[in-house]
This record gives sequence, structure tokens and C-alpha cells, in this order.
Amino acid sequence: MNTFAEVQKLYKEYYNFAIKNDILEVPEGIEYREFGYGYLKKVDNRNLSFKNEREYKDWVLKNAPMHLYKSLAYMLYPNKSGGASKKGIFRRELAFDIDVHKTTKCKHDEDWICEHCLEEAKKQTIYLIEEFLIPDFGLDEEDLRIVFSGNRGYHIYIKPKDENIREIIENYSKEDRGFLMDYVLGKNLNLNYIGKSWRRRLIKAIKEKDKRISTKKLEKENNWRKIIENLKSKNKIYNIVEETKNKLELDEKVMDDDIRLLRVINSLHGYTGFIVKQLSDLKDLKKFNPLEDAIFKHFENKYYEIEILDNRKFEIEICGKKYNNKSKKITASALLFLFGHNIKFELL
Ligand SMILES: [Zn+2]
Repeated sequence: MNTFAEVQKLYKEYYNFAIKNDILEVPEGIEYREFGYGYLKKVDNRNLSFKNEREYKDWVLKNAPMHLYKSLAYMLYPNKSGGASKKGIFRRELAFDIDVHKTTKCKHDEDWICEHCLEEAKKQTIYLIEEFLIPDFGLDEEDLRIVFSGNRGYHIYIKPKDENIREIIENYSKEDRGFLMDYVLGKNLNLNYIGKSWRRRLIKAIKEKDKRISTKKLEKENNWRKIIENLKSKNKIYNIVEETKNKLELDEKVMDDDIRLLRVINSLHGYTGFIVKQLSDLKDLKKFNPLEDAIFKHFENKYYEIEILDNRKFEIEICGKKYNNKSKKITASALLFLFGHNIKFELL
């Protein structure tokens, strides 16, 4: 059996389901959006556009790509090539992209995943929302669209339900967007004059890391440097400040790049075969387990006999079933995962 042909069939089956059940994202203002897609590479092609929803869905059904993206920007000429200046951009959605590396608990290579790094991605997403977006940016949960990226990350769209605010932020310039990113990453943080929100965040971090450090003086003072310089725990505090600034693994390009593409919600991620899944709220995110909840359940009832020809040692658990080099019978979800990760095997 030809593996790639079988993988294609599975992607087609999924997109048939997603379109029939109306869960595939149809980006707002679809005629102004650029689309991109890929099969064996993440992006084989971009500068694609559709006149309307029907044309878009027909294309997806016919081509069933392994990676599918839309532009965050709205453009007058979405299919013109040659970069941002040629496209007549007049509006742009805002999104943060958390994309984590493997953690110290992970026992695999950088290109693999496990419950530990997936948990870390989730933890960082919750931190971004609870520490920055809600208290500092004044957003509500309903103003956010939280989406599992399909791999080791999350996309957090800022979608204020207040149309006037949305109008303002979707017209932000590149510099405005850069300011948001710099703020979250603490790039302009100045310990000689520290703002209220970052002070709150750092005090919390200090208390969590070392209960022996007294934060009383720091709580009332803007000029932290003056106080810290006279403390015995000076270096410890400076370290905690740096750690806190570096806590989030954000892909800055997703905020910066005018013509950045982001995965279509409820498409499949070609490396994992997992659904790029939207969570309904923070509570939903907190109990979300990608290895279970981002799996297309129809694929779990479909089995393949295989022979693995790869020397690499691996292990992955999908929907409670464990797979490794010795596996002989795998589900369609595992098939897509192994194929996406370039594990060599033969379908029998
Ligand atoms: Zn891991």
C-alpha cells in the first residue's frame, strides 16, 4: 500500500467531515485574505486567494493539504507576490503564538513531543492570559480566541467583542504591535522606574521562588535598583527578574510580520495529524489534553498493520494507546503522527 496516498485519503476524509459539519474556519473577509498550504514542507505555496467561502471550501476538499494557513492581514491584492508592499494591507488581526521547545523533563529529541512539553505550552498560555492579557491589557476572556496549534503551542487571538476597540487594535501599526510584544517580554523594563503591573508580577515571582526574601520595600517603591543594590539577596533577585522576563516562548514574528500566515482553525497539523483546535474558554484550556482532545475520533477506529523500518527509538501515546518502534498495529491517528515525523515504515 502506498503510504502517502493513504495519508492523503485520511486528510480528505477529515476535511470532508470538517466542512460538512461546518467546523473549518472561514476567515472573516475571506476575499481579502491570503492563503498558504503545504504537503511535505510546511509552506509549499502561498499567495493563494478565494473569491468566496464556496470556492475556498471546494479547494480544501479537492486538495486536502497537510498544512493550511490564512493571513492575519486583510489585503486588497492577497494573491500578488513580492511581499507586504505589493499587497495593499488595510487591516490585521492580532495574535500571540506560544511555541515551546522541549523541556528538561522530556526524554526525546527537539522534533518530538510528549505530555511534558505539551503541558509546558499550556502553562505558558495560561500565564500569558492570566498575567498579561486580562489584568494588564484589560481584556476579558470573551475577547480572546485560544487555539491549540496542533503541535507544541497555542495561538491566542485578540478579538475584542467591543467593535470599536476591535477596530482600533486591528488597525495597529507594526510599531504598535511591537510595543505589545516588547511589553510582554519585559524588553523595556527599567528597574529604576518600574510600573505597577510588572512590579506585581515580579513580587509574585520572588515570593514563589524564595520565601526568605522580604518584598515589603519593593511593594511600595518604583525605584527597585536603589533597594536591590543594598540587599544581600541582590543577585538572586536579579536572576528572578531575568527568569520572569524569559518565561514565555513567543514567536515574535507572528506579531511583527505584516504578511504572517497562521494555521486555519480546525485544519489538521501536518506534522502530528492533530486538530488545530479552538478551546471555548480558559476553563476548557485548563483541562485540555491534546493527545486525547485534539484527535479526530474517526481515526481512532481505523487500524493499520505496519512494519517499522526506522532505527530511531520513539514513544508516543495517543488516546491512551502507546506506540513505539515495535508497534505492529496502529490507528490512523498514529499513522499520521509517524508519517508527519518522518518515521520510516511500511503499510502491510
Ligand atoms: Zn516533551
